[in-house]
Amino acid sequence: MIVVKNVRILGGEPADLRIDQGVIAEIGQGLSGGEEIDGGGAVALPGLVDLHTHLREPGREDAETVQTGTRSAARGGYTAVHAMANTSPVADTAGVVEQVWRLGREFGHCDVHPVGAVTVGLEGRQLAELGAMADSAARVRVFSDDGRCVDDAVLMRRALEYVKAFDGVVAQHAQEPRLTQGAQMNEGVVSGRLGLTGWPAVAEEAIIARDCLLAAHVGSRLHVCHVSTAGSVEILRWAKSKGWDVTAEVTPHHLLLTDDLVEDSPVGAYNPIYKVNPPLRTRADVEALRAALADGTIDIVATDHAPHPVEDKETEWSAAAMGMVGLETALSVVQESMVETGLLDWAGVAQRMSVVPARIGRLTGQGQPLEEGAPANITLYDPSARTVVDPSAFASKSRNTPYEGMTLPGRVVATFLRGRPTVLEGKLV
Ligand SMILES: [Zn+2]
Repeated sequence: MIVVKNVRILGGEPADLRIDQGVIAEIGQGLSGGEEIDGGGAVALPGLVDLHTHLREPGREDAETVQTGTRSAARGGYTAVHAMANTSPVADTAGVVEQVWRLGREFGHCDVHPVGAVTVGLEGRQLAELGAMADSAARVRVFSDDGRCVDDAVLMRRALEYVKAFDGVVAQHAQEPRLTQGAQMNEGVVSGRLGLTGWPAVAEEAIIARDCLLAAHVGSRLHVCHVSTAGSVEILRWAKSKGWDVTAEVTPHHLLLTDDLVEDSPVGAYNPIYKVNPPLRTRADVEALRAALADGTIDIVATDHAPHPVEDKETEWSAAAMGMVGLETALSVVQESMVETGLLDWAGVAQRMSVVPARIGRLTGQGQPLEEGAPANITLYDPSARTVVDPSAFASKSRNTPYEGMTLPGRVVATFLRGRPTVLEGKLV
């Protein structure tokens, strides 16, 4: 039994939590007994749930493993992550998703829910064994070719139809491949000045519009990964006004960073640390994404944690891999962009980083309000802390963060997974 003293649930009044046998047994004042942990007035949130994490295992254990990635997640306040399917081999069979699921059970510092590929080998030619993955021990409910777009409209339609049978969802990486051939950064004034091939907003927006229409046509669930443009927000707003079952995510980096960093930043021009898919966009896009996350047009924050080893990232811009690590800075970036700006309170953050992502992934036992009888998946967060981001201190195996040296607000103090601390005093247990 553990008693966590002096925490503020969703930023409310101070209270104590008694945790017993993996659940929140009691919430009250002046509780004592068992092992006592001083919460120090931290904000208590339901354990964070990430719908979009790249754990890289199997195949790229030089970038990340299930063990290091889930350590990174726990440090960031996460109690569950969805592991994307673009591993090697691709998670496109019951065998591979069960392998990842087992690695999570054995080495995970949080729950690991494998995402299944939509098409065999992510090749966009033939549907993968969606039903077998859903029926496997991993009980897959989220399917995505993330990293690639399911650009064939007929395959996308069939996938949407197929997943209805087990209440699954297709999570689309919306990137029209022909419109983004060789694309290096957001298409706009900065790409023009730098002479880099542009990545037009329409390449994302055209796929989102098509997929919303397809999902409505077949009456299925669609989830849109990493929305990055103001135009995408308008399309989602329209789809939701129709009552269609469409959800969407935004990454922390798209809520904070803009494409002009490629030209002018503290780490110089053309620094591939800012190279990411979809690309960083303009200030106007960032403002639209923040407003959409605040008003519910965008449902959740997902990290798109994309670890890469130094040799894949510290090279010339055109050759560098796309992506950023994000698990250990997500909550701080959300505080900076959404809470400090007055757009969200802590209850709003809990909805968008725990409750709703768990609902989209159809998870049980995660993303539940902190009340008596609920599973003790808890994140304690001190919003008054200020931290200079030091990648060498990351639990992730990779260091490719765009925030190195930046001072960000907040700090994850503790994380509890079914009552067991995975992080205490900011350190892994
Ligand atoms: Zn993606």
